[in-house]
Amino acid sequence: MYELKVITNFSAAHQLKEFEGACEELHGHNWKIEVYVTSDTLNEAGVTIDFRTLKKHVKAVVGTLDHKFLNDLEPFRNQNPSSENIAKYVAEQLALSLQAPEIKVSRVTAWESEDACATYYP
Ligand SMILES: [Zn+2]
Repeated sequence: MYELKVITNFSAAHQLKEFEGACEELHGHNWKIEVYVTSDTLNEAGVTIDFRTLKKHVKAVVGTLDHKFLNDLEPFRNQNPSSENIAKYVAEQLALSLQAPEIKVSRVTAWESEDACATYYP
């Protein structure tokens, strides 16, 4: 199996409800998003997917979150925009965006600080 990883970043504000601690207050993070995709096969060019193509899809998905107040966005109306839920959202939207059955989004990690991250495995 082949696995590719690309990294991107976004900045946004959020507020975690029913959360005891500083995260209940409105605050922001510079998130780092790591996306992993896997494939059993390579295309005619000998690659899983062109990195530029993959990055374009990842940036389009992550761009929907950049410089936003995440709690106001549709996917987070009924669930906290936690790093866990952000990772899940990116994984699901990326899978829809790629529309390539041979390429699987195997995990997405959302770093909300240098030493804290959440990973979602679809
Ligand atoms: Zn936070």
